[in-house]
Amino acid sequence: MQSVEAKDLNGDQNWLHRLLRVLAFVDLPIRHKFLLLAAGTLFWFLALALVAVGALTLLHYQFHKVAQGLLPHQQAATQVLEQLQGLERELVALPSPDGALDPVAAQAVRERLQVVRGIQTGLNLQATQGDGTLVEDIVRALAADATQHADYIQNSLAAMGQIEQALNRLPTVPQESAALASQMQALEAALANAKALTQQHAQSMQGAYQQAQENIVEVIRYAVHTVMLLLVLASALLLLFIYWIITAFQQPIGAMIRQIDSLSAGEFDSAQKVSIKSLDEIGDLSKKFNALVERVYGMTIYKKVIEEDASLEDVYRRMGQMFERELGSGQYTLYEVNEPKREMAVVYPPLVGDEHMHCEPDILSDCTQCRAAKTGHRVSSFEFPGVCRRYAGPQGMGHVCIPLLTGGHTSGVVQLRFPMGAQGAALEPEMPQKLFNVGTYIEQSVSVIEAKRLMQTLRESATIDPLTGLYNRRFLQEHTQQLISGVLRRKSQIGLLLCDLDYFKQVNDTYGHDAGDLLLKEVSIILRSSVRESDVVIRFGGEEFLVLLLDTEAGRAQQVAEKIRLAVEKMRVNINGETLSKTISVGVAEFPGDTDGFWQAIKYADVALYQAKEQGRNRVLRFAPEMWTQGQF
Ligand code: GH3
Ligand code: MG
Ligand code: MG
Repeated sequence: MQSVEAKDLNGDQNWLHRLLRVLAFVDLPIRHKFLLLAAGTLFWFLALALVAVGALTLLHYQFHKVAQGLLPHQQAATQVLEQLQGLERELVALPSPDGALDPVAAQAVRERLQVVRGIQTGLNLQATQGDGTLVEDIVRALAADATQHADYIQNSLAAMGQIEQALNRLPTVPQESAALASQMQALEAALANAKALTQQHAQSMQGAYQQAQENIVEVIRYAVHTVMLLLVLASALLLLFIYWIITAFQQPIGAMIRQIDSLSAGEFDSAQKVSIKSLDEIGDLSKKFNALVERVYGMTIYKKVIEEDASLEDVYRRMGQMFERELGSGQYTLYEVNEPKREMAVVYPPLVGDEHMHCEPDILSDCTQCRAAKTGHRVSSFEFPGVCRRYAGPQGMGHVCIPLLTGGHTSGVVQLRFPMGAQGAALEPEMPQKLFNVGTYIEQSVSVIEAKRLMQTLRESATIDPLTGLYNRRFLQEHTQQLISGVLRRKSQIGLLLCDLDYFKQVNDTYGHDAGDLLLKEVSIILRSSVRESDVVIRFGGEEFLVLLLDTEAGRAQQVAEKIRLAVEKMRVNINGETLSKTISVGVAEFPGDTDGFWQAIKYADVALYQAKEQGRNRVLRFAPEMWTQGQF
């Protein structure tokens, strides 16, 4: 897991990669990521709004300029021009035929001048007042055209004044035509000046109007382009960010779903871990998920492995390895509890040399002395210091003893030892986690231990004679190959003693079957105690026993047989107040000394036994080749 992390987060981490991680907020907590997303979106909205407001203000300014400035001026200029043209026409009628000023025509001219003045004054008012809103005032103040308008109005009013002065200077009484003509010329010149002024203004207004139109188009174009650009940029960033977020969520979650699916389908590949791409909650989740999956997988594999282990010893050894791995130390002892016999024994790690148990040895012969075995509850010195008086661990080490409960009874006890402080507190901070892990493995193990123990019992019950507790003929059939190959490998011998009680039938006939059974039990005890622990004693038939003396030297078989014969002869069994004694006959053969065939060797022993019976019973007879005569069996 460490390597995946390292590869994901440190491998190929150049500055560009790191910068991208920062920009994409990869390692920020999810909440911050979304807050930043919201802030980013807000920023782009604001930018768009700013552009829109700016563009609208500019447009408004342009429209204002056209509506408030250019259009009225243009219209006024047209009207003024019309009036001036009218004035021009009326000037002709101004001098009367007597060389004086025609008062009617003069009045008409004055009225026209008044109209023109009215137009100009109206313009002037408009230019100075506006409609009074703040924006309008700013716009008006900013408008460079305002002075131009004011200048025109001033000049034009001045021109009107000049016309009027010229008009006023015209003689009201008849004059010389020359004098009148010169006065008229002045008037015409003033009029021409006013016309030129107005025409020029009208043209400049036309130009400004076109300019304003172009400006409006320009503003709209720029605004549309900027808005489009901002939209594209914001959308691209948003899409990119959303893609990153989706990837950051979807990839690990998808990988987790796939892991769970393959775990439940039993096709789990432990190398396929969820890769950790970020240091946020998702990264943390991926890391923890990997650890969990590894644990579950390890547990599943562990159970499979111990289920396939051939013997209970293998399971105990495997548990020991697991304890060592999980605890990181060898501070544990696994006990097997035999409740019917009230015994318990250390099964792993085996006690070697002068190694001692971490409990008082009397628990071995009486498992009720072990608190965990007796109560079936976890016993921890960290919860209650000195809770178990049978604990004899070293100073500074506390214990947690976990019973292995199978089918309501205790089949074993696991003792785990941890360093302990002065007040009896655990010194290892990770002890609870270790306990939890080991506890989970133990839970997986108990069912397997129970099954294995059951199998062992079944196997034993099928190969053990219930009356005497000796092996039966089936055991011999199952283990012949094993026995033979061991002896052949070691190049040693098996001494075969076939023993048959003499006149046993009489016992049944005289004292009953139960008495016969009792006698058989006594004989089996003698047989068992007359041979070594490693030798095999089998109840071969009704009152017939086969003793296999393993790795025996030549001649020793007979000695053992004799020992048995004597012991049986001396045996006294009390039946209903009567003392009973019996004798036994033994046929001896050796494998492979006498024959290469194991079952043939048994036959030879039988032949010798037959001879022993023939020769008067209560004797040991070694097989000799001359005893073997065809057709005897
Ligand atoms: P021999 O000296 O020739 O061996 O005489 P024997 O009476 O022992 O003869 P045999 O071997 O033919 O008799 C075996 C008797 O053992 C027959 C049967 O009643 C008895 N027997 C076999 N199995 C059991 C058993 O489980 N319990 C009891 N009580 N008797 C058994
Ligand atoms: Mg017999
Ligand atoms: Mg017999």
